[in-house]
Amino acid sequence: MASTADRADALVIGGGFAGLCAAVELAKQGRKVVVLEKKPHLGGRAYSFADPETKEVIDNGQHLFMGCYRHTRRFLEEIGTSSFLHFAEKIRVDYADAEGGRDVLSCPAALGSPLHLAWGVLRLKGLSLSDKAGLLRLDRYIKSIKSRTEVPAALDFLTVRQWLGGMGQSKRIQQRLFDPIALGALNDDPEVASATGFVQVLREIFYRDVESTRLGVAAVGLSELYTGAARAYIEKRGGKVLQSKKLASFIEEGGRVKGAVTEAGERFEANSTISTLAPWDLKKLTLPQALRGPWENLAPAPIVSVCLWLDRPLISEPLVGMLGTEIQWVFNKSRILGLNGGGQYLSLVISGAHKQIGHDPKEIFAAAERDLGKCFPEFSKTKVLRWKVVKEPFATLSPVPGSDALRPAPGSGMPGFYFAGDWTRTGLPATIESATASGYAAVAAVLKNG
Ligand SMILES: Cc1cc2nc3c(=O)[nH]c(=O)nc-3n(C[C@H](O)[C@H](O)[C@H](O)COP(=O)(O)OP(=O)(O)OC[C@H]3O[C@@H](n4cnc5c(N)ncnc54)[C@H](O)[C@@H]3O)c2cc1C
Repeated sequence: MASTADRADALVIGGGFAGLCAAVELAKQGRKVVVLEKKPHLGGRAYSFADPETKEVIDNGQHLFMGCYRHTRRFLEEIGTSSFLHFAEKIRVDYADAEGGRDVLSCPAALGSPLHLAWGVLRLKGLSLSDKAGLLRLDRYIKSIKSRTEVPAALDFLTVRQWLGGMGQSKRIQQRLFDPIALGALNDDPEVASATGFVQVLREIFYRDVESTRLGVAAVGLSELYTGAARAYIEKRGGKVLQSKKLASFIEEGGRVKGAVTEAGERFEANSTISTLAPWDLKKLTLPQALRGPWENLAPAPIVSVCLWLDRPLISEPLVGMLGTEIQWVFNKSRILGLNGGGQYLSLVISGAHKQIGHDPKEIFAAAERDLGKCFPEFSKTKVLRWKVVKEPFATLSPVPGSDALRPAPGSGMPGFYFAGDWTRTGLPATIESATASGYAAVAAVLKNG
């Protein structure tokens, strides 16, 4: 069995947002940290790669950031890349529906939150008086729980659809306003996703301040946004970031985790071990009995993305929500990445893609063409030069009712071992912000224990 020469203060398993954020914070606190990542590249479920043909940068799926991503922004500030995140000045989301209709949710940023949302919503076409009354009811409910640390546990036993129905929200306002938010933030259908994460998101985005409601995108590939800068930060402070190191088991002695062993038999000893592995990966390892638990029942939800290169521009907006179609969002990558080469590069997203994940890429591309044709009549005049389907079967946690209670708190575990990752119970759905929040929480627990 190979053995490492030196012992670390802390081991961080996994090189995605949670792991790199935790490792950066540990390094900042003067701890000698070693990151172990099984893949030959960093970034986990948020990474980019160069298209083999054109060398153009492709994310494993378009990621949307929000102004309320406080932990993520703190992490990017620390490693010096926050300027790569571009937040829209005005709150504006354009929608195109399958009948060729257009709508817009736009709010003047100057109005205080949540008033500016109400303003934007009231300007959505065709809202009735009862829609507006329903919104006021929902508004009163969220305000009533605004200052609680955790949203009421009972929400975890309702789906988003059941909760919105109970709040008197009409079908129209659910389809136009709430379903796109639920699908995007929870990565599952409002019919199956628990209301917990949905209420958490509404509270975070609309009930803090105007800044929280801003939509943000990375103006560079996802890997460039954080992986290289995080590695440099850690290594500069004496840490190590090691790729192609697949962890197989933990070293357990006297009821305490004292490090980890890779599949190749390399031993890494440390006082503290933070695991940021997703539950479906973590449960496959040889684990101390004390770490086994109900969290092993958490299941993933897939995302399917389609990259399209057109011979001419189709949309001028940075993103457009698509309603009544399989494709839910279209992102204007040419505009986001500042590409000036003519034509247009688009990224299309299907969240909660349980049905499409098993489909042949050609079938998914055909659905994308069909949907674009319905929502944008001008699509018939464009020529698709190239396309690529990216499937992520394990994109995020499937937040079905009852799942929130199964999520262990970040930083919990056993002596020497700390759970982290987007899927831990951060008070947020499994997103980048949940990942970075879990990283900081796990480090706080490590520091507390000395
Ligand atoms: C297509 C797509 C679109 C998304 N869109 C959004 C969005 O718009 N906004 C948003 O906020 N979030 C979005 N997400 C979710 C976001 O990407 C995740 O919440 C976040 O990246 C999770 O980070 P993490 O560090 O917790 O986990 P991960 O990124 O999964 O990191 C865990 C790491 O552990 C490594 N690992 C696994 N097993 C082992 C082992 N045995 N040994 C060593 N290493 C191991 C993995 O390779 C991985 O790198 C999206 C995800 C996908 C896939």
